[in-house]
Amino acid sequence: MISLLDTKIEFLKGVGPKRAAFLNKELNIFTFNDLLNYFPFRHIDKSRIYKVSEIVDDSIYYQLVGKVDNVKSFGSPRITRITASFTDESGSIELVWFKGLKWIKSRFICQQKYLLFGKASVFNNMYNFVHPDIDDYNPEDFTQGESLQGVYYSTETLKTQGLGSRQIAKLIKTLLFQVKDHIQEVLPKYILDNEVLTQRAEAFWNIHLPAGTQDLNRSVKRLKFEEYFFFQLQILHNKKNRELYVKGYPFKVVGSYFNDFYANYLPFQLTEAQKRVIKEIRLDLGSGMQMNRLLQGDVGSGKTIVALMVMLIALDNGFQAALMAPTEILANQHYISICALLEKMPVEIALLTGSTKAKHRNIIHENLQNGKLQILIGTHALIEENVQFHHLGITIIDEQHRFGVAQRARMQEKNEYPPHILVMTATPIPRTLAMTQYGDLNQSRIDELPPGRKPVETIHLFQNQRLKMLGFIRKQIAAGRQIYIVYPLIRESEKLDLIHLEEGYESLLRDFPEPEYRICMVHGQMKAADKDFEMQRFVKGQAHIMVATTVIEVGVNISNASVMVIEHADRFGLSQLHQLRGRVGRGADQSYCLLMTDFKLTGEAKSRMATMVRTNDGFEIAEVDLQLRGPGETQGTRQSGQLEFKLGNLLQDENLIKNIRGLVNQLLDVDPQLLRPENQITKEHFEKLFKKTFDWSRVS
Ligand code: ADP
Ligand code: MG
Repeated sequence: MISLLDTKIEFLKGVGPKRAAFLNKELNIFTFNDLLNYFPFRHIDKSRIYKVSEIVDDSIYYQLVGKVDNVKSFGSPRITRITASFTDESGSIELVWFKGLKWIKSRFICQQKYLLFGKASVFNNMYNFVHPDIDDYNPEDFTQGESLQGVYYSTETLKTQGLGSRQIAKLIKTLLFQVKDHIQEVLPKYILDNEVLTQRAEAFWNIHLPAGTQDLNRSVKRLKFEEYFFFQLQILHNKKNRELYVKGYPFKVVGSYFNDFYANYLPFQLTEAQKRVIKEIRLDLGSGMQMNRLLQGDVGSGKTIVALMVMLIALDNGFQAALMAPTEILANQHYISICALLEKMPVEIALLTGSTKAKHRNIIHENLQNGKLQILIGTHALIEENVQFHHLGITIIDEQHRFGVAQRARMQEKNEYPPHILVMTATPIPRTLAMTQYGDLNQSRIDELPPGRKPVETIHLFQNQRLKMLGFIRKQIAAGRQIYIVYPLIRESEKLDLIHLEEGYESLLRDFPEPEYRICMVHGQMKAADKDFEMQRFVKGQAHIMVATTVIEVGVNISNASVMVIEHADRFGLSQLHQLRGRVGRGADQSYCLLMTDFKLTGEAKSRMATMVRTNDGFEIAEVDLQLRGPGETQGTRQSGQLEFKLGNLLQDENLIKNIRGLVNQLLDVDPQLLRPENQITKEHFEKLFKKTFDWSRVS
């Protein structure tokens, strides 16, 4: 159904083709509806007019009334700057333009009063306005009492077209009068009633032209609700769609592989959390739908054994299983520990990485295809074109944040039905992100560490306390422990970082001379074989200290290592620090993490250090990380666009999102295709919003 709101923006009074082109380009505004949804980023009290003499701050918006004169151009032959004076009865202030100069020169009429709006800036110890928003002054606009005026984001280019914040506000006002009877409700009435939400038309009116703060707040509440509501409707619709129509191999039985292992070879009692998670996964696997599950568990919470037992269920049902890790070191380690756990069981396991020799690789390929090979462990090499499985039933991806969505998708193409997918991550995901960014995955959490773990003690030291640190290490080595010393390696300054690492290594050699001490070094620019050799020295206990970059970040498991020293700790993000700390504290001994930094730190870096010292809880750390860095950065994905809400704020809205997600789930449970009359308006809006039909008879 075509609505007045679909009208092209050029047809709005005051716009026209030229300005329309700028609105398209600069703000992505193409239709009436787009402009209607262009919300102000703040409001000011428009009845408040300041005097020039009252300007004392460069952070607030001022609204002034005065004359513009003394217009001067600078630069020749090409004019590069124009200045003018803005004068009211209290004084004058300078105005400056660097763009749109032709237009500015002929813009002002002597003696006429103008309304100026903008933030002042400081130049040569004086206040001025750069590219202020200037409009004709109309005293009638200021007759009422308190009234709020929306402030709209505009660009320099738009301002030169006479489309600053005030002019955008004016266009929106024109628009509102024209379309106010055409703004339709999109939420079912029972939800509006239960949640006490303002009608949609009223909300649009009041977010742009609120009479007062109360109206404004009600409108924001309503429109924010709507924003989250349709976001959740989209992901949950996708999720349910997949659950209903994407078939997966039903793993009907739990058979002898699983049971034999459980009864005879399980080296410890599973924690309650591990048991619960295995149960959740088993339910998915038996359902006949394809599983897409995210398993979160802090470092050391015991995800590997869960992965193994889940793979055994696949074997019990006659399928192959794959386990994919982000680095060779990790793939190796999984291979070694899983081979050890299954040593006495008749299971065929192979390791496939970039450094697998061609001859061996061919054998692996052959045995994968004829089905002899049951478990394949490896790196990205697993998803190369030429790796063909006989009957792949499940893929487990360890440390998900290093794998892209595209790679996950490729894994899906390896079979007739897509294999089940279990993604494991040790980077706990804050709840709001779990409900949005990962909202279409089923989720399990291991929120309990195996018994007997002593929490790692974390200490923040400044560089001038190095001797203390060295002394501490010496004592630990004397007690038979091993030490990690990690240096940052961040791409932009790789060379410099490598120098730091090597210098650090040299100076450690002086502090810990051979033959009494032995130090090994691992970094990303070494050849795989050298890396492995050095790694092995440490694993076998032949080296006391390992100097490394973050290649050891994920998964490496050496239980005799009891100290993690992190150099330049302020250069690491919180989740990375937490990951690194997770490398120690794996044995029975008390372990330590020493964060070394300079004395001078930014406020944010101080918070990071303080958080690390305060808590060992990965979920808590993830929440702080989200607060410090915002949703776009934290997960190391670049999908932040998906998480940009116009009114919503993931940092604050956890409860709201949870509530709305619950409501949407209920709605879809009761009326999965939105066929009920009371849900029609919602369905129509959804289809328009996402340009897709709400039709589940078709697999999309
Ligand atoms: P992560 O979740 O970080 O991958 P791992 O699977 O590597 O953790 O497990 C960490 C260590 O804890 C391993 O040495 C593992 O054998 C041990 N572990 C796992 N589960 C238990 C348990 N239920 N009881 C005792 N130790 C366990
Ligand atoms: Mg692990």
